[in-house]
Amino acid sequence: MFAILYVFTGLGITVGYHRLFSHRSFKCTKWVEMTMLLAGGMALQNSALKWASDHIRHHAQCDEEDDPYNAKLGFWWSHCGWLFWKDKNPAQYDKYKTRLKQNPLVMWQHNNYIAIVIAGLLFPFIVGFLYNGWIGGLSCFLLAGVARTFFVLNSTFFINSICHLWGNQPHGTSDSSRDSWFVSLLTFGEGYHNYHHMYQTDYRNGAQWYNFDPSKWLIWILSKLGLASDLRRQSTTQ
Ligand SMILES: [Zn+2]
Ligand SMILES: [Zn+2]
Repeated sequence: MFAILYVFTGLGITVGYHRLFSHRSFKCTKWVEMTMLLAGGMALQNSALKWASDHIRHHAQCDEEDDPYNAKLGFWWSHCGWLFWKDKNPAQYDKYKTRLKQNPLVMWQHNNYIAIVIAGLLFPFIVGFLYNGWIGGLSCFLLAGVARTFFVLNSTFFINSICHLWGNQPHGTSDSSRDSWFVSLLTFGEGYHNYHHMYQTDYRNGAQWYNFDPSKWLIWILSKLGLASDLRRQSTTQ
């Protein structure tokens, strides 16, 4: 259950929240969009509207004062410290939400976000309870609910901290983004963050065929099944 929900909710963030809703790196059917919104919501990383608008702002204002996870303020700030700091004037960032607000599914998920989070914690409890009573329910809840959420949260945080502080910059030095193959192993391919910052709308983060990027593989498989289309590539890297 831990592994299944780690993969399901993790890909909801990387393929759904990140490459689909933030960067529009491919198109897909409404059912795929809905699945991504449910999976990403269960990761307890806020609604897609909030997550993606913060992320668009990160790319637009990278390393500047308005970058929500500004790595210039150090590891802990960019990893998770920023979460505990409220914007003084949040309305000034509403422009990053404009396009997202036009998607009724994104708005539905935003309005039902808490229910989706609770479902993501209750689901492992119910499965565990049916399998082995209260002990099964509680252990499944703690492992596949609480611990899984903690690990997926930190894997996402690694992108904002490690991938802006340590690693190579083979694709460009215009901001602090870095490539880390190791982080890719934990984050479904998102560790190739320097490539991603230089080619934001590319559906791949690890563009070489041998780069470990399960998110691009899922998008590619969806396209072969007729569930996704218009996969964007910004560089000629194969
Ligand atoms: Zn991005
Ligand atoms: Zn970044």
